[in-house]
Amino acid sequence: MPQLIAGNWKMHCLAADAVALAQGVAAGAAGVEAELLICPTALHVAAVAAALRGSSVAVGGQDCHQDAQGAHTGDVAAPMLLDAGASWVILGHSERRQNHGETDELVREKCLAAVAAGLTPIVCVGETADQRSGGQETEVVGWQIAGSLPKPFSGVVAYEPVWAIGTGKTATNEDVATMHAFIREELVRQFGEAGQTIRILYGGSVKPSNAAALLAVPNVGGALVGGASLKADEFLTIARAAQGG
Ligand code: PEP
Repeated sequence: MPQLIAGNWKMHCLAADAVALAQGVAAGAAGVEAELLICPTALHVAAVAAALRGSSVAVGGQDCHQDAQGAHTGDVAAPMLLDAGASWVILGHSERRQNHGETDELVREKCLAAVAAGLTPIVCVGETADQRSGGQETEVVGWQIAGSLPKPFSGVVAYEPVWAIGTGKTATNEDVATMHAFIREELVRQFGEAGQTIRILYGGSVKPSNAAALLAVPNVGGALVGGASLKADEFLTIARAAQGG
């Protein structure tokens, strides 16, 4: 299976900038062996999907509601993302867990809604700096996997240590190897043989200078990229460091 390089644009870009960035990524995507995905704000999914039409780059949302429709002011439902051209959705990002109080249980419900709508979820897990310094990182991630992933699970897991997101600090290759091996073990324990093929992305200050080394770590199935995905050339350099199928 090819590695997946996913860009999380977070709350960046006005519409024209989002379209231009998407066009820049699409223009350089030919010949990239990795699977490519960009996740703009929900408001720009349709415009970005239109800009990417005919390219190999997919579009995703950054969150969805757990209900397919209803009285939920300000929220976006999974079928709406699909309707706008998305095929993926990021769920349980640490910024949503921290800023919106999202629990494992809620992330699991959102995951079910995403799959029911036909989207592939990318479920984020990862420990805080305090949890790591307290030696609790595997325990925390194990609980997040057990609580956030529905059974069966047809999606992708992203390991994103919270202390590495947007900070410029990256987990060492050894830390990534240890955590991804642990996540693989957990996935196999919880999902049997199916757990062997679930892709596990690494996220947290991935950039052109560290991408090749991180993407070569065993059990790393790709990268979730924040800051560096806002520049087409940086995102494409990361994508070229990834492995095809
Ligand atoms: C992210 O928020 O998913 C992320 C990995 O951000 P950054 O690459 O900027 O650390």
